[in-house]
Amino acid sequence: MSTESRPAHADPALASLLQDTAASAATWLSEVGDRPVRAAASRADLLAGFGAPLANEGMPAPEVVRALAAAAEPGLVGIPGPRYFGFVIGGSLPAALAADWLAATWDQNAGVYAAGPSASVVEEVVGAWMIDLLGLPADTGFGFTTGCQMAHFTCLAAARHEILRKAGWNVEDDGLVGSPRITVITSAEAHATIPTALQYLGIGRSRSLQVATDAQGRIELASLAELLEKVDGPLIVTLQAGNVNTGAFDPLAEAIPMIRRRRPNAWIHVDGAFGLWAAASPRLRHLVAGLGLADSWATDGHKALNVPYDSGIAFVRDAGAHTRALSPTAAAYIAYGDVERDEFRWVPEYSRRARGFALWAALRQLGRTGVASLIERQVELAQRLAAGLRMAPADVRVQILNDVVFNQVLIRFPAASGKDLDGDERTRAVVRAIQADGTAWMSGSAWHGLTVMRASVSNWSTTDADIDLTVDAIVRAARSVS
Ligand SMILES: *Cc1c(COP(=O)(O)O)cnc(C)c1O
Repeated sequence: MSTESRPAHADPALASLLQDTAASAATWLSEVGDRPVRAAASRADLLAGFGAPLANEGMPAPEVVRALAAAAEPGLVGIPGPRYFGFVIGGSLPAALAADWLAATWDQNAGVYAAGPSASVVEEVVGAWMIDLLGLPADTGFGFTTGCQMAHFTCLAAARHEILRKAGWNVEDDGLVGSPRITVITSAEAHATIPTALQYLGIGRSRSLQVATDAQGRIELASLAELLEKVDGPLIVTLQAGNVNTGAFDPLAEAIPMIRRRRPNAWIHVDGAFGLWAAASPRLRHLVAGLGLADSWATDGHKALNVPYDSGIAFVRDAGAHTRALSPTAAAYIAYGDVERDEFRWVPEYSRRARGFALWAALRQLGRTGVASLIERQVELAQRLAAGLRMAPADVRVQILNDVVFNQVLIRFPAASGKDLDGDERTRAVVRAIQADGTAWMSGSAWHGLTVMRASVSNWSTTDADIDLTVDAIVRAARSVS
């Protein structure tokens, strides 16, 4: 083949672009543990770096990628690194990261089997692995979404379908105008994405009744029982495996049978964005006892499991309700698979990224025991952080507010009596100081009326030494704020 007729993708310049890009990615990752965790640049710096307006003329691809890296790097946060403890964010396991590069390279459309058979089959395989790992009922339906937000949307769309079907109403065809009224019971500490899913589904955010919670943020069974007596008609109840602040688990083994007994037609959904993974560990599984009795479960791949963004997973026990609620209307130019899995029947998207490859790679890299120890390590490291802070000298004035049962630690910095700053102000100041210091990154949060610092341990690469460095940094930050 002459050079002139070489296909564009066989151009050696493309291979060297990808190699150079891989080298620059590897360099960034090799340094991420040593650089400040926070971003270095301000918004104004970044705007200047990314530049505007769009030029009329294009630019050669290698220059574009170099310019992009130069513009972006000052505004990157060390999320893949070992001392990022903000939110529950996770890093990327090496095999999952590399698999995700391949997913972009292969550019399959994971909407229908016909547009990417491997992308479809890998989802079949990964879905079955996860159902087994998490101990969910066999034949549970699953869909791979952008995150837990859309996993909630997916599961609650299935819920809306099924509870209205039982009430004689076809919501997919006829919508919600004039439908029987749906009631939702959630926890007073449901994650913000639950009301948002209800908002998207037309059920409404303010229709839900809230179950009172205890000091750790778990629902109170007596409050649940009381609410169940009050409501009638189609009902959805959402429970939580892993409170976003404390990591606490709702008492699923008591709550689910109670709901079933009193309201057999209710749909029970579990938010397990990170906590569902407790089910994959023989040592932690007790936290989610009763989990398998629910109707649907939402979780993330991009948090505890350390798969790159974006990766959420919706599980629905009744696979028929799942696909009836989510399947798009027929399109004449697409033949649906018979036994083949057309992914768009399980998620709210049509064309989409092949998310199954990265999940497959993460689970293959870890194996069954590796998943368990990944999750167990997160808990041990969170407990090490809490223990390190509890042992700090009295002048540091630091308190741990939660029982560290999972990967979350809530930290408070009380004011010294007679000082100007009260505990909320001092805690806010310590959060600012730790973020500026750059050794680690933790966010502020509000917990039962108090300002707190919230640490989430969810990265595969975090070591004991990283936790100890973080304890020292927190102690320094607290001492700098009297
Ligand atoms: C993070 C989180 C969510 C939302 O997940 P996304 O992946 O960000 O959409 C929902 N529930 C809980 C408990 C979470 O921690």
